[in-house]
Amino acid sequence: MNILIPLLAIIFFLIAFLFIRTLSFRERSSRIQPIPPIDIQKDQIAQHLSEVVQIPSISKVGALDTDQQPFIAIKKWIEKTYPLFSAKLERVVINKYSLLFKWVGTENILVPVLFNAHMDVVPVDAETLEEWGGDPFSGKISAGYVWGRGTLDMKNQLVAILDTVEGLLKKNYTPKRTIYVAFGHDEEIMGARGSKEIVEFLKSKGIKLAAVLDEGGMLSQGMIEGVDEPVGLVGITEKGYLTLKLTAQGEPGHSSTPPRQTAIGVIARAVALLDDHPMPPRLDFVIPMMRNIGHLLPFGLQFVLANSWLFKPILLNQFSKTTQMNAMIRTTHAATIIEGGIKDNILPAAATATVNCRLLPGDSIQDVFNHFTKVIGDPRVHISIDEKSGGWGASIVSPIDTPAYLSLDLVIRQVFDNVTVAPFAFLAATDSRYYAPVCKSIYKFSPIQITPKDRSGIHGINERISVDGLGKMVVFFTRLMKVWGEAEF
Ligand SMILES: [Zn+2]
Repeated sequence: MNILIPLLAIIFFLIAFLFIRTLSFRERSSRIQPIPPIDIQKDQIAQHLSEVVQIPSISKVGALDTDQQPFIAIKKWIEKTYPLFSAKLERVVINKYSLLFKWVGTENILVPVLFNAHMDVVPVDAETLEEWGGDPFSGKISAGYVWGRGTLDMKNQLVAILDTVEGLLKKNYTPKRTIYVAFGHDEEIMGARGSKEIVEFLKSKGIKLAAVLDEGGMLSQGMIEGVDEPVGLVGITEKGYLTLKLTAQGEPGHSSTPPRQTAIGVIARAVALLDDHPMPPRLDFVIPMMRNIGHLLPFGLQFVLANSWLFKPILLNQFSKTTQMNAMIRTTHAATIIEGGIKDNILPAAATATVNCRLLPGDSIQDVFNHFTKVIGDPRVHISIDEKSGGWGASIVSPIDTPAYLSLDLVIRQVFDNVTVAPFAFLAATDSRYYAPVCKSIYKFSPIQITPKDRSGIHGINERISVDGLGKMVVFFTRLMKVWGEAEF
């Protein structure tokens, strides 16, 4: 009896503590006043997007100059379509096709910011043409949408930036802070000739940037389980990229007298072991994101998240169940190619598997290599980095307690009806990773509200953007360029 009372008291206080933590987790940031309306000509902006979609600037590895003419055409199209932009901004052509523009501010004590977009697009798979219901490069405008390759990735952002600057110049606006605008030409094939060279140029001039905004998270629905409302996800880092090759040698010979295991069996076993032993999960990038969207989550999830110190194993187990969340909590691996053998009755001389990994910040290439070696634990399997695809670690993690981030967060909420905003680790690769040597605050965000169905058009079929959504991008950039253009950071 004497022991029971203090024990019950401890349990009571523990539960009370857990509930109090949950309540604080549920708080949402205060409601924001919408900004005064910004008049934009959305039909004209849609027309601009339609025009640039019609220039088929498809990225191609090993492209010849003749393949690159669309980028020259885009440069000329910018000159013709945006006369004030072209007259007032200084232009540097980088590596023949990429473009860097400088809008000189009035106060050169302020460190410049940069807005990035890429001009290139991925090709359209010929087998899907019928499902497109039309030419993906026709730039058709119908039913309130602009259709075609690049309308979401990311000629929309390119046009939005151009129309924003043109619109501000029309009103005789000049920012206090210098604003750079960069358009790379090879993002879809790794950006080594475009953005990487743009950054080399900035470095050579000793130019540092206070903030960079590039494509990334969107106002997405259905990205986070249990959350139906859209959430503005701002990428503050992006995962790294690594392709490993697993190779096993075998003794070629007649398959009537086989060894216990052929090279194919050795590789198959290695892949199966990896699938059963993925890289260890971590909560460090998910908790800040979840804290921002806490009020949208079901109570049960709020309770365990608010008390993650106690419920970590439950959370990790839960998040591992969906591919989207699983990718946010660990370095993933995916066996994407397997090869071996030449004939049904010949023992294979070798077998290989190609495994693509996406690295969470904090996991190095060496860490992944060590994990593979340990898990496979088989000296017959040779592990090497695929030379063609190479690899790189995750990008730097940008701060979220700085004026640049906080003002970005504010503008997103002002323009998009007080939407919830949260930082996250962007899962794909973008041009902005190259900017780390000249900038510590790199944000990956595309100001577009999008349904999961439309999101599948990116690199897919029937890519499209609503004319209203495109117009709203210009409202967003107009607001952000003014805020970043004047704030002191
Ligand atoms: Zn893109």
